[in-house]
Order: sequence, then structure tokens, then C-alpha cells
Amino acid sequence: MKFQKNKLVVGSAFEYEDVLMLSVLQAIPEGFDAEFELTGKIISGQDFTDTLKNLGLDLAAKAKKEKETKKVQNYVCNINVKRPVLVNKKLMLELVKTLQSSCYLLFSFTVYVCSKCASKVVLNPDTKMYTCEACGEEEKKPGKEFSMKTKTTPPRPTTKQKGVPKTETQKIATKIKFCQAILSNTEEARTMLINEIAPDFLDEIPSKVKVIELVNNYHVNNLVFPPRELMKNSKLFRKLTIREGSLERILRADKNSFENVIQFKI
Ligand SMILES: [Zn+2]
Repeated sequence: MKFQKNKLVVGSAFEYEDVLMLSVLQAIPEGFDAEFELTGKIISGQDFTDTLKNLGLDLAAKAKKEKETKKVQNYVCNINVKRPVLVNKKLMLELVKTLQSSCYLLFSFTVYVCSKCASKVVLNPDTKMYTCEACGEEEKKPGKEFSMKTKTTPPRPTTKQKGVPKTETQKIATKIKFCQAILSNTEEARTMLINEIAPDFLDEIPSKVKVIELVNNYHVNNLVFPPRELMKNSKLFRKLTIREGSLERILRADKNSFENVIQFKI
């Protein structure tokens, strides 16, 4: 999380993209209802076509089958960069809230907002200027930016090391490139993001901070297995196994470091 003069730039690892996206969408000024282009990918274990249709989106999920067994592996909806769909803030919030618990939402979009009247700003390719659609204000740089850039391929659980092993810092740097969000650096946006991402460090984070880094380390130290009669169904067996352990959270705010350990049982 980098706090720049006007922008708040956040990089995150896989599985944090939906939380980050909700923050970006909520930060878009109240009353901004212009449409913007959405691209990316939705991946789920179940068919979500009906949900998309119910939201009024002309999109469908395609079943991806395993080559050998022909069993459905997952459902995917690809929104190609060449054929983006038009959405607005309200629809996006509905989409994310409806699908976030059952799907991976790997979306990218960019919204420019006029700093004078909070309307949509578009880039004029001829003049290379950003022009407000409502008040006509022209700026060299867009007044406010709200954007998400997410990779469309989830990282594989085990990546084989090639060449020189990476240091912890390098590993983190690679991981947080999965999703990048930009929002306008306001008091409200800062509070919302910190509340969302690091509620357990509210007292430690100083009010004037340039960079915040948060690392989660999961340590599973015990597995509680379900009854023996479920042994035959490996999928169900895995699902019902309880993992006990601790989550070690390390927060660095500029040069200060804080730690929090949370015990879990899931
Ligand atoms: Zn304007």
C-alpha cells in the first residue's frame, strides 16, 4: 500500500482481489453512474450463468473439462480485452457481492473522474488531454483515478524454483503483483482500506505513513480428521478436515514493524 500525493496504490496477492475491488468501487464518488469497460475472468466450481443473466449481463460461463476423464473441472467466463462489457458502479458492486463467495473475480477496469464535478473523464486521443464529459474541463492528467488490474491466471500452488532461490522480499514482491489497485488518496479511502485489510493494526498505524506492507503467514500445526466412514470420498474428506494453527500477521508501516498472531480452527 503506497500513499502517494494524489493516489493510493495497492498491490495484493491472489485471493485478496475481491476485497480490494470492493474498496476501489466504494471509493468512486457517490452519484457517479457513468458506464466503464470491464475485462477479465470469472472462475468458479459451479455454473454461475444464471446469476450473470439475472444481473442483466449478456455473459455466460463455459464448462472446462478435464482432457482424460471429461469431468467438468470448473466454469469460466472470459471477458476479452477486445470485447469488454459495459458496467457501472452499482452493477459492479452487485456483481462482486453476489459472486465473491463462490467465484474468483479476476477483473480489470479503469475509471477517471473529474476533480471539479465528479463526472466521467475520457482521454481525447487527438489532443492527449483528459476531458470531462459533463463540464468540459481539460486536464493533462485525469483528476482522480480508480482502477484495478488483475492477472487472469491464478498462481499454481507449487511453483518449482528455477535458478537462484528467491529471498523472502523477492517472493513477496512477485506475489503482490497479482492484483494492482489505484484509488484517489483521500482520508476516507485510507480509513476504509486500513479498516478492511488491517483492522487488527488500527492503533499501530501512524496517521502519516508512506508505505504499508502486510504479510500473512499461515502455520497449520494440527489436522482433525472427520469420521472414518467418510474416508472413501476423498473430496468430502478433505473438505471436512479441520485445520488448526496460527496466522502470523506482520505489518510494516514505513520503518516500524508490528506483529499479531491469531489462532484459527477452520
Ligand atoms: Zn467535470
